[in-house]
Amino acid sequence: MNAPHPYTSQVGDFDSLARRSTEPLAQLTQRLQRHTQGEVLVSLADRGRYATDASIYQSLPLAVLVPRSEDDVVSALGICRELNVPIVPRGGGTSQCGQTVGAGLVIDFSKYLRRVIDLNVEQRTVTVEPGLVLDHLNAQLKAHGLWYPVDVSTSGQATLGGMAGNNSCGSRSIAYGNMVHNVLGAEAWLSDGALLSLGRFDQSQGAERQLGERVQQLAHQLRPEIEAHWPKVLRRVAGYNLDIFCNQNVRPYTADGSVNLAHLLIGSEGTLALTRSLTLQLSPLPRAKVLGVVNFPDFHSAMDATQHIVRIGGSHLSAVELVDRTMIDLSLQNPAFAPTIRTALSPHINHGQPAAILLVEFSGESKDPLLPHLRDLVTLMGDLGLPGSVIEMVDDSAQKNLWEVRKAGLNIMMSLRGDGKPVSFIEDCAVPLEHLADYTDALTEVFARHGTKGTWYAHASVGTLHVRPILDMRRDGAVKMRAIANEASELVRQFKGAYSGEHGDGLCRGEWIRWQFGDKIHEAFGQIKQWMDPIGLYSPSRMIDPPKMDDERLFRFPSTYRVIPIETALDWSAWNVTADPVTETVSAPGTGGDPAQGFAKAVEMCNNNGHCRKFDAGTMCPSYRVTRDEQHLTRGRANTLRLALSGQLGTQALTDPALWDTMELCVSCKGCKRECPTGVDMAKMKIEFTHHYKQHHGYTFKDQLIAHLPRYAGLASKLAPLLNLRNRWPWLARLTERVTGLSAQRALPAWQSTHTFNTPLPGVDIASVMRAERGVVLFVDTFNGYFESDNARAAYRVLEAAGYSVHVAHRPDQHLCCGRTYLASGMVDQARKQVRQLIDYLLPLAQQGIPIVGLEPSCLLTLRDEALQLGLGEAAHTVAKQAWLWEEFLDREHQAGRLESLKTQLTPAQAPFLLHGHCHQKAFDLVSPIQRVLALIPQSSTTLIETSCCGMAGSFGYDAQHQDVSMAMANLSLLPTIEKHPHAWVVADGTSCRHQIDHGSKRQALHVAQVLARHLG
Ligand SMILES: Cc1cc2nc3c(=O)[nH]c(=O)nc-3n(C[C@H](O)[C@H](O)[C@H](O)COP(=O)(O)OP(=O)(O)OC[C@H]3O[C@@H](n4cnc5c(N)ncnc54)[C@H](O)[C@@H]3O)c2cc1C
Ligand code: SF4
Ligand code: SF4
Repeated sequence: MNAPHPYTSQVGDFDSLARRSTEPLAQLTQRLQRHTQGEVLVSLADRGRYATDASIYQSLPLAVLVPRSEDDVVSALGICRELNVPIVPRGGGTSQCGQTVGAGLVIDFSKYLRRVIDLNVEQRTVTVEPGLVLDHLNAQLKAHGLWYPVDVSTSGQATLGGMAGNNSCGSRSIAYGNMVHNVLGAEAWLSDGALLSLGRFDQSQGAERQLGERVQQLAHQLRPEIEAHWPKVLRRVAGYNLDIFCNQNVRPYTADGSVNLAHLLIGSEGTLALTRSLTLQLSPLPRAKVLGVVNFPDFHSAMDATQHIVRIGGSHLSAVELVDRTMIDLSLQNPAFAPTIRTALSPHINHGQPAAILLVEFSGESKDPLLPHLRDLVTLMGDLGLPGSVIEMVDDSAQKNLWEVRKAGLNIMMSLRGDGKPVSFIEDCAVPLEHLADYTDALTEVFARHGTKGTWYAHASVGTLHVRPILDMRRDGAVKMRAIANEASELVRQFKGAYSGEHGDGLCRGEWIRWQFGDKIHEAFGQIKQWMDPIGLYSPSRMIDPPKMDDERLFRFPSTYRVIPIETALDWSAWNVTADPVTETVSAPGTGGDPAQGFAKAVEMCNNNGHCRKFDAGTMCPSYRVTRDEQHLTRGRANTLRLALSGQLGTQALTDPALWDTMELCVSCKGCKRECPTGVDMAKMKIEFTHHYKQHHGYTFKDQLIAHLPRYAGLASKLAPLLNLRNRWPWLARLTERVTGLSAQRALPAWQSTHTFNTPLPGVDIASVMRAERGVVLFVDTFNGYFESDNARAAYRVLEAAGYSVHVAHRPDQHLCCGRTYLASGMVDQARKQVRQLIDYLLPLAQQGIPIVGLEPSCLLTLRDEALQLGLGEAAHTVAKQAWLWEEFLDREHQAGRLESLKTQLTPAQAPFLLHGHCHQKAFDLVSPIQRVLALIPQSSTTLIETSCCGMAGSFGYDAQHQDVSMAMANLSLLPTIEKHPHAWVVADGTSCRHQIDHGSKRQALHVAQVLARHLG
């Protein structure tokens, strides 16, 4: 047996050892590299990215292993045992209590260990590796009419191993129970290397049987204590499940009353064993659901009504979820959620402004038998004095949309700017339903006494309401956190609830385990830990010997946290604010005291919830989708920037090469700008970073070549025949790759000499367009001007056919450009100069209210996005308000009934259309205008390709070093979908998208303007 583990029990030492000592790190690294095939990550930046999860904590690991196989896990376990290095297992890292952070070796199961090992449809069981994500499992089960029903809000990121670790619970736990109720078996390695196969106790033998008997004896000895102290609620996740032998949960752990030893691991948070596989009980996918949305005039009545609703629900009741006024207001302010939340509001309650709503769901085999339940709900609410309070939602898509808003609840709340943030530490206390109203009232008073307030939402059906008081952890947050925790725990005790009801213990609630269960049960937990992990190798200093929740050495933002002063190139003042915790009023831009002028605060908006690890519809985050690396994820980037800006990566701050590696594969798609719930806009951050980095390290020839393209385009077009030889002679392409770094495997956009758009210049002059009844300015970008001028001609032709007087933005003495290529290269000053010239030109037209339309999404939308952060004042805003994408403008005109004449000129479609939206169009929600404009063509049908980024992303894909990643992005779904539709016309507005499609599929995609022009009769 090894000597007692030197790092256990003292988180402070444990943590500081990781910072000080290089000896274990060197040995650990060498041996992991030699004896495993996994990825061994040891750089400060890599370790920093694994030092946080969705909690308030930060603790630097010694190293990170991303195992490729279970053999790697076994080898690492042996190495760590010999070197006495603790192991912290990790899935998606979405834990809220610091479960996945700690000095030692973090093992990330999520990248490679994610197979379905065995699926038995008849028995409705599945065996999976721990790194498999819930949504990915359910996607595979759907065809069989099955699902795994522990539907956590983080279903797109949460791994089954992590869910088992935390004993996770979903919105529908009232119908299906928690993780522990749905696990049939587990294989797991103890720290001595033994592999246990845990399942039914009555069928166990050998070491498993021995372990079971020991726990059984302990449970029997402590039965009186267990019965006295164990919370009698569904949602209790603290400590170990000692009660498997005398169940205290309101729902039996197993259907037949048997004891399952795998349940010992559920909720053990990686402190007892490393999970190798899990066998799960599946459920039939409910075929039908109906939703009753109950509106309440005040919060108390919502809480009070919950117990009555649950009582009438019967076996078809699958969820009762709360959304409170603050959440409703935040949703109404969010363009993506506002239309949906409006569908849930009853005009009969507070004139459509309810204080809270409850989402009451019934599910079953078909809709008809569920409808009486909805009627019962309506009757009940009438009896409770709230007639007209129920919105009945029978339609599936309406329900789905509303559930998405509810699922995004926490993230919506976290979008508050400034240092004060909603902090998770009492957010999942569970109380019996009859006390819910009194509990929430009392806790609201606690918050008020401490000068803050909380937003309430989530699982009313099971008495687990999420609430996070707003605290500033850099100032007095820790003191308030302790005081609120003390008072909240007293309330939990008074109402006989569970202090830790969903999100686990981790570093935050470990100290409350003894408080909840008493000394004897706590000692019994220590005994279980001793039996299973006697050397304290697994996630030490948590459940048994935990730190104080407010030990600020473990905070991500301790009071010593400092930001390095920097002068930013872009204007980040909108983030440089403070917010009042009670009123949530935000101070004026620039007043937040950020030494990095708001940039640091923008970066700190990332709360590590991991939503960017998604693979569903949407864009974010293409580089993660193809690499599955934390480094190439929005969260990883935000963390690295935060560490750099706060000096935790060394003194180099933004000029550290580690940052370059982290930002390099960001394709600036702006997917995160729209899809990150807190609006982390990494594309903009990349511009800021690149500016600082290149200022320090200098620009390469390739940077110059790309950045200055708009400037030399005029001259280059004159040399078109010569320059285009590069695409014809492979040897020349190879030579230019060596000089420029642009991939020889790709054709570069071909220069046009005779057809550049402005020779001769079409359209009317400025004075005429200002006078015109229907005037419009066409802004032709460099790419559509010099490489694909047919698009500009087509756009012009259609506008003219529609009856507009078109003025083409043009200056004879200089090329007008949006500065995009400069921004992408980090040359912000040059970009500012370009944009200023363009704005100067467009301003008088914009002031007259004349629409400015553009073709290339990334160029035109620069006017609505980055141009506003270049310090160009009100003029930039005036122009931005008039800047439209070509199809967006036409769509607007159509809605206003001004395209009747154009419609009569359009001939029927010759083929179906297959549409790929440019990432920036998606980021600005501008894909639907393309669909509507295509629909003007008689007999047309358009299929939207569900794509992330095409992978070309401006010049990104042309870079020889990005070729593989770029093609991997294209192959995610874009190219395979195009291949499946050989006869469709592929429509893509982005220049680089069209080139990627051409390169990857040999199909010529068309700008929507071309499509319309080709249908002009
Ligand atoms: C916005 C948001 C919403 C959330 N909503 C919910 C919700 O609705 N319901 C809910 O229950 N939780 C919720 N959570 C918490 C969290 O998402 C869940 O607990 C989730 O199941 C964790 O999965 P993960 O893969 O991220 O696990 P991680 O956080 O990576 O790990 C969780 C625990 O499992 C352990 N672990 C991981 N892999 C292994 C392994 N192979 N062997 C042994 N131990 C292992 C870890 O050490 C850790 O203790 C939410 C979190 C956020 C940020
Ligand atoms: S970048 Fe956004 S989505 Fe990703 S973890 Fe941070 S806050 Fe969440
Ligand atoms: S801009 Fe795109 S690639 Fe970059 S972090 Fe955001 S989603 Fe990922």
